[in-house]
Formats: sequence, structure tokens, C-alpha cells
Amino acid sequence: MLKKSINERFSFTFVGRESAEKIVICVVNGSILVREREFIFSIHDIDSVKNYCISTLMLGTCGDFDYEVWDLSDDVCYLEDYSVINLRELLISIDELNFTLACRAVQLLEWKKSHIFCGACGNATEIQGPEHSLSCIRCSKPYYPRISPCVIVVVTKGEYCLLARQLNWADGLFSAVAGFIEAGESAEDALHREVFEEVGILIKKPQYIGSQSWPFPSQLMLGFMAEAASEHINVDGVEISEARWWHCDKMPPSVPPPAVLSGLLIEKFLISAKGLENQNKW
Ligand SMILES: [Zn+2]
Repeated sequence: MLKKSINERFSFTFVGRESAEKIVICVVNGSILVREREFIFSIHDIDSVKNYCISTLMLGTCGDFDYEVWDLSDDVCYLEDYSVINLRELLISIDELNFTLACRAVQLLEWKKSHIFCGACGNATEIQGPEHSLSCIRCSKPYYPRISPCVIVVVTKGEYCLLARQLNWADGLFSAVAGFIEAGESAEDALHREVFEEVGILIKKPQYIGSQSWPFPSQLMLGFMAEAASEHINVDGVEISEARWWHCDKMPPSVPPPAVLSGLLIEKFLISAKGLENQNKW
């Protein structure tokens, strides 16, 4: 989905360089520290923040700069000029590359903090080598950042698409159907199962559109469009409170923005459906 991959600019590594200028991203309980809408700081500009730093982690290199992520205590919130915003808020105010960087910083830090000890033998883990992995000091078992793949799909039926809302969402917000891929499933298997389980609809012709890292907490969203093979909606009432067929001219009061994959899929449906409408008028 990214037009320009972050890997073209960054080398993600645990090994820093003595001579490099340090750049810092600060994380407070999984959220990002900002000052005047900026969240990427030169180490020289954040002296007042240093006292709140619990631990640091090398993130990667970019040109002459080494990027670090700092884990800060809550008390930093009392500092004048600084505030904390979560990744969802950050998403709508920065470009994709910086959002990817912020996501990676938060996810790596959380992964490191939750793998202090080896799950096999209980001894401590340590950083070994430049790649982002940890290794047990006793049994050498390696630990890599864990990613959970999910599928998300906009199901269409001509000029209509199926959007649903979860029980805990804000009023009026509808989005694509999504769910985790279970062990042993293909992405397509998961699509058929999730859509049927959540809204009772059969689908056909799933078409892969693109993917997006989704750090809530460590997901990789795989986005699809699919055609409906049945019409009657039957919501599960557990995850989904309401689902409807929406005409492209009468969409829900609120849908996700195109910056997120679900919003992009919905936008793709609208472009396609309105094209279909125009064709029908000819
Ligand atoms: Zn071990």
C-alpha cells in the first residue's frame, strides 16, 4: 500500500554508530510524545525529557542519523509544551512513512518489554547481532517480533456494499468486516469464515487489494474486495451489532478515512460503483 517503502530509507538494526547524530521517538505507555505536532526529535532538543527515560532501544539508521525509541514514564506528561497522543490520532495527522516509523517504534518497544525472559527455560534474553531479534542467554532460543495477520474485506453487490459496526464503536461509524487469520487457514479461508460468522453472508471472487501494518497491537491487515454470493444479513450480535447493505449514494454517516486500509477499500468501492452507475445511465 505504501507508495514508497520505508525500507528504502531506513535500515532497521539494533546496532548504532558512535559518530551518528541521534534522533529520538518517545513512547509513553504505547502512545507517542509530541511537541508542537512533532514527534521525531533531535537528542539535543529534548534535555528535559531525559530524566523520564526508563529504557532505550535502537530502532535503525537513516543516512547520518541513528534512530532510537525511548520508553518514558507517565510523569513526562507534566512537562510543559509536551503532550501524548495515541497512534490512531497520529495516523490522521502525518504521512504514511512517518506513521509506519511510529508504529514500528511502538511495536518493537512493546515486543522487547514483553520478552525479557525466555518462554522455554525462563532465563533472560539479550540482543544478539544487528537484526531485530532477541536470544535466550542459556538455551539460545530466538525471539522475533510477532505479527498477527488479519483479513479485512468490503463485500459488494453491484452498487451496494456491506459495512458493519462493532458494539463499542461510535454511533454512525460503519466499516469493512475484519478478523484474524487462524492457525492453518489461508487468507481466503479466513475471509469466507469471518464474513459468514459475523454477518451470515457467503462471498465469491475475493480479490487482494493491499496490506497495511496495524499496530493495535501488532497486526498486518490484508485488504480484499469480494462479491456477495448471498443477500440476507444475519449479524452475530457478539462482535457486530449492526450490518447493512449501503448504496454508493447513501453511505453511512461515518466511515474510516482513506489513510487506513478499510477506508481505502470503501473508497475503491465508491469509485467502482459510481462508474457502474454511470455505465447504467448510458
Ligand atoms: Zn531459554
